[in-house]
Amino acid sequence: MNMSHTCQAAVVTCEDFRLHQRKSGRNFIGSFIESLGVDCDLITRGGCIQDLVRPKPGHDEAVLRDLTVSVELHKVGTIYLVGHEDCGAYGHFGFTDRATELAQHFADLREAQAIVNKRFPGVNVELRFGALEPGSSDAWKITELD
Ligand SMILES: [Zn+2]
Repeated sequence: MNMSHTCQAAVVTCEDFRLHQRKSGRNFIGSFIESLGVDCDLITRGGCIQDLVRPKPGHDEAVLRDLTVSVELHKVGTIYLVGHEDCGAYGHFGFTDRATELAQHFADLREAQAIVNKRFPGVNVELRFGALEPGSSDAWKITELD
């Protein structure tokens, strides 16, 4: 059995099909991983990082369990938490303006970063956010959080 299957990073993001491999060939998360230039575990959740900061009953350890595999088995040094605008799982907030929606995502990302940092103190935790391209409803630009 080959136990040397390590990689450099893990990406935690939403399961939303629009972010991933499409039949058209577009793949925003795939392109993001390619831009990092390293191999990554990919952990997708319905609701993105809400399972870290606002877990439904029974989900509170789900992301951390997956990340434990990344950290302990694959020896990742960096965890990227990637949120995205127009996330259906944030629909319950009933946002009426974009600024409020983005502020909620940014606050959640920072809270999730603190949770992951506390659990995996030796690992870097980086925050990214996919903002919709102007005029688009299914094209995102993934950038670092300010
Ligand atoms: Zn989403």
